[in-house]
Amino acid sequence: MIKRAVLVLALGLLGGGHAVMAAPVKAVASFSILGDMVARVGGDRVAVTTIVGPNADTHIYDPKPGDVVSLAKADVFFVNGLHFEGWLERFVGSTGFEGPVVVASEGITPREMDEDGRVEVDPHAWQDLTNGVTYVRNIAAGLCSVDADGCALYEANAKVYADEMLALDAATRAQFDAIPQTRRQVITSHDAFGYFGAAYGINFLSPEGISTESEASAADVAKLIEQVRSVGAKTLFVENMSDQRLLEQIGRETGAAIGGALYADALSTPDQGAVTYLEMFSHNVAQLLPAMTAQ
Ligand SMILES: [Zn+2]
Repeated sequence: MIKRAVLVLALGLLGGGHAVMAAPVKAVASFSILGDMVARVGGDRVAVTTIVGPNADTHIYDPKPGDVVSLAKADVFFVNGLHFEGWLERFVGSTGFEGPVVVASEGITPREMDEDGRVEVDPHAWQDLTNGVTYVRNIAAGLCSVDADGCALYEANAKVYADEMLALDAATRAQFDAIPQTRRQVITSHDAFGYFGAAYGINFLSPEGISTESEASAADVAKLIEQVRSVGAKTLFVENMSDQRLLEQIGRETGAAIGGALYADALSTPDQGAVTYLEMFSHNVAQLLPAMTAQ
């Protein structure tokens, strides 16, 4: 009898606790930048698991058994789309997940790129902050679809977050607009800044293709060296998940310096100063501006 009394008391406590705080919505995001966005919109109501973490390459990721378990238990799955996650279809099929797959880039205007004569869709849409606003709207709608009780909160969080993005977008635009167009030339190791360049009037040159899967050929490198010389670029940038050796070679041959790391497809670890989407953006701008204004 004593045991039963204790059990009833324990259940009563659990029940009371549950009424105050519902179990969080389980969301999975395909990569770190998107995971940060989902966490901002979801707030305390959403527990986010990210598949491809900081400084890792989503283009060529190979899902692990733990990722399968995470998605099998999830309520909703957020992905970039635009063929960024090449492993997506097979992965979702292997988990038995039947919940909504929310494509965060839905509704943006995709850029196309010429990749060795083939026209391909550029997946790096988050590199334009106004596209980030679209991502946030899609994330809020996705969370509302699985948790109607939290919808007002998600929409409120999304509004605050989108306003922060638009403020940073305006500040970024003003900073780059102050630099003469001829100086807005940047060399990167992986062609991930097409949207960024279009948004802020910067010409990004890159020796690699659109995805980190492709290797630059000797002819590509020779062409790039020629481009670096002709535009007079003074600084080369490497990304957090790319091989630096190619840029070092180009630097040696052209006399251009190697700049700090740019964060393209993944956030940084906490000690590197780009742990959120907005921090990543500010970090990249702070790396690019002095390189463009340097003599
Ligand atoms: Zn990429």
